[in-house]
Amino acid sequence: AKYVYRFSEGDKDQKDLLGGKGANLAEMTKIGLPVPPGFTITTEACRAYMRDGQVPPELRVEVTMAMREIEDTIGRRHGDFHEPLLVSVRSGAKFSMPGMMETVLNVGLNDASVKGLAEFSGDERFAWDSYRRLIQMFGKTVLEIDGERFASALEAKKKEVGAATDVDLTAEDLKDLVESFKQIVREESGREFPQHPREQLDMAIEAVFGSWNTERARLYRRRERIPNDLGTAVNVVTMVFGNLGETSGTGVAFTRDPSTGHSGVYGDYLPNAQGEDVVAGIRNTLTLAELEGLDPKSYAELMQAMRRLETHYRDLCDIEFTIERGKLWLLQTRVGKRTAGAAFRVATQLVDENLITMDEAISRVSGAQLTQLLFPQFDGEADRKLLTRAMAASPGAAVGEIVLDNAQALTRTQAGANVILVRRETNPDDLQGMIVAAGVLTSRGGKTSHAAVVARGMGTTAVVGAEEIDVDVVAQEVRVAGQVLHPGDVIALDGTTGEVFLGEVPVVDSPVMRYIAEGLDAGLAASEDDATRELVLAVDRILTHADSVRRMQVRANADTAEDGRRARERGAQGVGLCRTEHQFLGERRTYIEHLVLAEGGEAREAALAELLPLQRKDFVDLLEAMDGLPTTIRLIDPPLHEFLPDLTELAVKVAVAKEQGKVEERDVKLLAAVQRMHEQNPMLGLRGVRLGLKVPGLFALQIRAIAEATVELRRAGKDPRPEIMVPLVGSVRELQIVREEAEGILAEVGAAAGTTLDVPIGCMIELPRAALTAHRIAEEADFFSFGTNDLTQTTWGFSRDDVEGAFFADYLENGVLTISPFETLDGDGVGALVRAGVEGGRSTKPHLHMGVCGEHGGDPESIHFFHNAGLDYVSCSPFRVPIARLEAGRAAV
Ligand code: ADP
Ligand code: MG
Ligand code: MG
Repeated sequence: AKYVYRFSEGDKDQKDLLGGKGANLAEMTKIGLPVPPGFTITTEACRAYMRDGQVPPELRVEVTMAMREIEDTIGRRHGDFHEPLLVSVRSGAKFSMPGMMETVLNVGLNDASVKGLAEFSGDERFAWDSYRRLIQMFGKTVLEIDGERFASALEAKKKEVGAATDVDLTAEDLKDLVESFKQIVREESGREFPQHPREQLDMAIEAVFGSWNTERARLYRRRERIPNDLGTAVNVVTMVFGNLGETSGTGVAFTRDPSTGHSGVYGDYLPNAQGEDVVAGIRNTLTLAELEGLDPKSYAELMQAMRRLETHYRDLCDIEFTIERGKLWLLQTRVGKRTAGAAFRVATQLVDENLITMDEAISRVSGAQLTQLLFPQFDGEADRKLLTRAMAASPGAAVGEIVLDNAQALTRTQAGANVILVRRETNPDDLQGMIVAAGVLTSRGGKTSHAAVVARGMGTTAVVGAEEIDVDVVAQEVRVAGQVLHPGDVIALDGTTGEVFLGEVPVVDSPVMRYIAEGLDAGLAASEDDATRELVLAVDRILTHADSVRRMQVRANADTAEDGRRARERGAQGVGLCRTEHQFLGERRTYIEHLVLAEGGEAREAALAELLPLQRKDFVDLLEAMDGLPTTIRLIDPPLHEFLPDLTELAVKVAVAKEQGKVEERDVKLLAAVQRMHEQNPMLGLRGVRLGLKVPGLFALQIRAIAEATVELRRAGKDPRPEIMVPLVGSVRELQIVREEAEGILAEVGAAAGTTLDVPIGCMIELPRAALTAHRIAEEADFFSFGTNDLTQTTWGFSRDDVEGAFFADYLENGVLTISPFETLDGDGVGALVRAGVEGGRSTKPHLHMGVCGEHGGDPESIHFFHNAGLDYVSCSPFRVPIARLEAGRAAV
C-alpha cells in the first residue's frame, strides 16, 4: 500500500483515506492557494498500526522520501544546525473530533538547531519561544505529561520577571524556561527530551496513531456515532511562523458569519503568535478589519483566498491562516459548522449567488435544524441574568420553580406551578418528576445521560452537565455563580443553547413557527430585524422547493377537527391516522362500560345506539376540516385497561360496600367483567381487531358513523374522503371478516342515500406476522399503513412505556443501542420487516398505496428510510409536518 500522499497528490473527496484536514490541504494546494509544503500519512497506515501494534516498516521509508522532497523544495534540511526545516505533526480523522488529539508544532528543533534558527531568522527570542513550545507540546501529547506542569512553570516565570503576557518574555527568559521544561520531561517521563529530529517526528506520528484509541476518543466516538475502525490520518506540514515579530501573526476566519449567516468575512487575528494562541484566549485578538489596517497586502490576499475557497467549495468555509513576515499561508480549511438559522440563510444566499441549485440548497439544511427554529424562544429583548451555560440536551425554553425531587415536583405542579427538576443526575426513580416538569437540569452527565435521553424522548427541555452547579439535596440548596438558590426559586432553561437564567424570562413563538402556522406575512411581521426576515424567507423558499421535489406525501396524525386544521395549515396533505379510541375517553368512557357489561343483544344495541350520533358528529367535524383530502380513520384500538376501572380499586370498593351491606348490583357485575378481562400484559392482549371481533357491533357502529358522516357531508356539497383502517391485524382472515362487514354497511347506507360509498379499506402493518404475510393480507387490503411504534415493540419484545427510563441510558452508554429505536427506526431489524411488508404487498398488488403512521413518520433519518423503501406517504404529528416535508424533499434529491 501507498501510505504517504503529498499535498499535490490528493483532493477533497479523499476524506476516508486522508482525513478531513489532509483532504482539504491537498485541495487547497491543487487550486493554487498558498499552503506550506507537506504530506499526509493515510488512515490506512493508522489501521495497520492498530492491527499490528507497530508502524508499518514501509511507512518509515515513505516518510523519508517525502521529507527529502520537502527539503529539496524549500532548500533547507530537517533539523539542520544552521537553517533548519521544522514541521508540524497534526492529526486529522475523517470526522472532526475536537480536542481529542493535539498537534505538535516546531518538530525538528533541538539544542543545536535552535541556535541556527535564531541566527537564520535574526530573531533570538522567536527561536527560543518556538523551542519551548515544542517541548511543551511534545511533552504533553507524545510523552503524556500533565500539561499543568508546563503551564505553571510558564506562569511562574512570567511572575518572576514581571511579564504581563507571553510576548513580554525575553530570549533569556525563554532559555531558562526551556531548561525548566526539559527538567520536567526528565522528571515525569524518566528520559531526556529527544534531540534527534527524526526521532521526534516518528514519535509524534506514532502518538497521533495511538491517540485514536484513547478512552476519551472512544467515548467521544460512541456519543457522536463515529465508527471505531476508521483510524486517523497524520499531516506533516512545513512550519510557517506567526511568532516572528510584529509583521507576523496567526488567525481564524469564516467566509460568512456562522452564527447568523450574514454574508461578509468574520475572524480573529493575533499578531506575533503561533498556532493555538488564538483560541486559547491568551491575549485579546484583533478583528480582520484591524488586520487590514496593519497589513493591507496580506489582508487583500486573505480576502481573495477566502472568495476563492467559497466559490470552489460552494459553501461557507472556515480557515486557519498564518502570516509570516508579510507572507500569507493557509493551514486549514473546511466547510464550516453553523447555527440552524445560518444554515438556511447561507443556503439561499448561495442559490442567489448562483453557486448552488435549489436541490443542493435543500440538502444543505436538515429537519433537525428546522426543528430548532420552531421551538419557542426566550424573548431576546427581555432582561435576563445568566447563571451558567452547559450542554443543550433537549431543545425548548422552560421556566419554572426549582424542585429537587419527585415529591416536590408533584406537589408544586398539582398546585399549578411550572417546575424545573434540578438533580445531580437522574435515574429511573426520577421519572415521575421528569414527566411533570417543564424542564430538567443536571450538574452531571452528557448527551447520552439518563436525563438527556429521557427528556428528549418526552420532548421536555433539558440542560445537562452543568458542572458549575452544586446540587445539595441535604441542605436543600442549589449553589451556582456565587448564589444560593432554594426550591421555589424560579429559573429558566434554554435547551437550544444550554443557558440557564435566574428568574422569569418571557417566552415567545419563534418567527419561523409563526410563518409555519400562519403564513409568510405573519412570519415576516413577527420578525424583529432584517436577519430574521431573511431567515423566514429562506425557510419558505426551501420548504416550497422541498414540496415540489418530494415523491412522498406528508399526512398528519390528527384525532380531532382542531388537530386536522392545524395540520392542514402546516401543509399536511391528509390525515394518516385518526385514533378513534381517544374519542371514547373522558365522559364517553361509561358507554364502553355499558358495552362491555351488556349481556344480551338488546343491552348492547342500546349502548351502541347511544354512541352512534356522537361518533357521527366526530367524523363529520374531522372530515369537514379535511375536506377534499384523504382521511384515514382507524377503528378503535384501545388497550382495554385504559377504559375500564382499575381492578384493585373496584374490588376494594365492592368489598367495602358488601361489608356495609349496600353493595350495588351494577358494581358486582362490573367487577366480574373487569376480572374476566383483566390482562397481565394489556399491550399484547385484547386490542385492535381482536376486540372488534370479540365485541360484536363495535366496529360496525364506527363504520356506520363514517358512512353516515360521508353521506351527510356530500349532501352539503362537500368532498369527504374517509379511509377505514383496521388495527393490529396479524392474519388475512381477520381483515377479511371486518372487510365483509364494512362493505355490507357501506352498501346499505349508500343505497339508502341513493349513492355509492367507495371507501378504501386497509390495515395497519404493525405485527411481525403481518409484515411477513403481507402478500396474503394485501388480497383484502386497499392500503397498508406501517405502525412502526407497535412494530418496534413487538420486534424487540419490549414495551416502550416501561423500558425507556429503565435501561435505555445504559444501553446507549454500552453501545447496544446508538439511539432509541422509538425515536429513529431501527433499519436493520424493524426496517427489514417494513421492507418485507412493502415487497409482499406489492407482489400481490403492484400499486398498493402504503404509508407509515408511527412516531417515526416525523423523524428525519427514518423518513429517508421510508423514501428508499418505496412508501407513498409518511404521517406524523401536526407539529412535525414541516420537518417531514423538508426531509421527504431532501430524500428525493
Ligand atoms: P486543531 O485541529 O486542534 O486545530 P491543528 O492541526 O489545526 O489542530 O493545529 C493547531 C494549530 O497549529 C492551528 O492554529 C494551526 O493553524 C497551527 N499550525 C499547524 N500546523 C502549522 C504549521 N505548519 N505552521 C504554522 N502553524 C501551524
Ligand atoms: Mg485546526
Ligand atoms: Mg398500534
